[in-house]
Amino acid sequence: MLLHFSPTKPLFSPPNPRRNSPAFLVSPPRSLRIRAIDAAQIFDYETQLKSEYRRSSALKIAVLGFGNFGQFLSKTLIRHGHDLITHSRSDYSDAASSIGARFFDNPHDLCEQHPDVVLLCTSILSTESVLRSFPFQRLRRSTLFVDVLSVKEFPRTLFLKYLPKEFDILCTHPMFGPESGKHSWSGLPFVYDKVRIGDEASRNERCEKFLRVFENEGCRMVEMSCEEHDKHAAGSQFVTHTMGRVLEKFGVESSPINTKGYETLLDLVENTSSDSFELYYGLFMYNQNALEQLERLDMAFESIKKELFGRLHQVYRKQMFGGEAPSSKKTEQKMLNDGGVVPMKEISSSS
Ligand code: NAP
Repeated sequence: MLLHFSPTKPLFSPPNPRRNSPAFLVSPPRSLRIRAIDAAQIFDYETQLKSEYRRSSALKIAVLGFGNFGQFLSKTLIRHGHDLITHSRSDYSDAASSIGARFFDNPHDLCEQHPDVVLLCTSILSTESVLRSFPFQRLRRSTLFVDVLSVKEFPRTLFLKYLPKEFDILCTHPMFGPESGKHSWSGLPFVYDKVRIGDEASRNERCEKFLRVFENEGCRMVEMSCEEHDKHAAGSQFVTHTMGRVLEKFGVESSPINTKGYETLLDLVENTSSDSFELYYGLFMYNQNALEQLERLDMAFESIKKELFGRLHQVYRKQMFGGEAPSSKKTEQKMLNDGGVVPMKEISSSS
């Protein structure tokens, strides 16, 4: 249907006292108005209701530290309908807007947005300096403070020291990263410790709502004290990172005859090498159990070497003495936890 348009007159002019309003000037004639609007209205209404419900149940989350891991987490938090605001030492405004988050150069401006949750994603090493200079006074008194640091006792102690006592505290460690959680978080461990959550139902609900993101992604939710976490993590995560870094230095490379085991080593290097050295150093420096694990690794390596060289030594002796072993020697040994042994010193049987 053709509509004739005269530039001197408004397009349509039915009698109406509000005819001068600009919206009215473009409203269609009665014959062109939608009459059977029920279906469209219901659909629209439902969509509106849905998005209103989403908005009302969404958390406003302020991500502090928008580096590698901060960005990785933010994408999923946004996908779950939460409102993301962020601040970092470097300017990440483009990266933030590309995933639908808002970036604030200044932490004061970020806090004035009154987020429900502040999610600390800065490096382990910078934690204390970040907390010391953070303008907590601009946040709401009941804010929930969450961290994702790969060590747990250290931030817990700092939170209890620096955060206002009205704040809720949730210490967490998503035990995966941009590499290992690239395709899915399903089955990956998420450790958390509700260090201090107020009694009010709304505070509990807020904490649960935050945890639900990880639950709904299929993470294996593990509630555990920060202390316990650090014990386990030193023996597993720190050792994994150390082996990854040792192998990287060693220079493992793909070959045309890779075995499955070797492929696992290559994967390990790939998984660990993308993490910053600062992160690895933090795992060592701020987990009091890490040094012991490093020493055990060293002992285990020495033990394997000694076992190999010990056999080689016997072969040489056989060749030199024609199979006659000279005086047998007793060996004092120190057990490793896994049943391995470290020869400490040789004691001659004659002595
Ligand atoms: P990272 O090297 O541990 O931390 C980088 C982040 O820390 C960046 O946001 C950086 O900000 C910020 N930062 C560094 N020094 C700072 C300082 N002096 N002042 C203020 N901010 C500073 O690497 P990451 O992988 O992104 O890890 C972030 C946190 O997540 C760490 O605590 C880590 O333990 C934890 N985490 C990481 C993984 C992982 O797989 N990567 C997994 C679980 C938990 P700018 O970029 O703005 O400089």
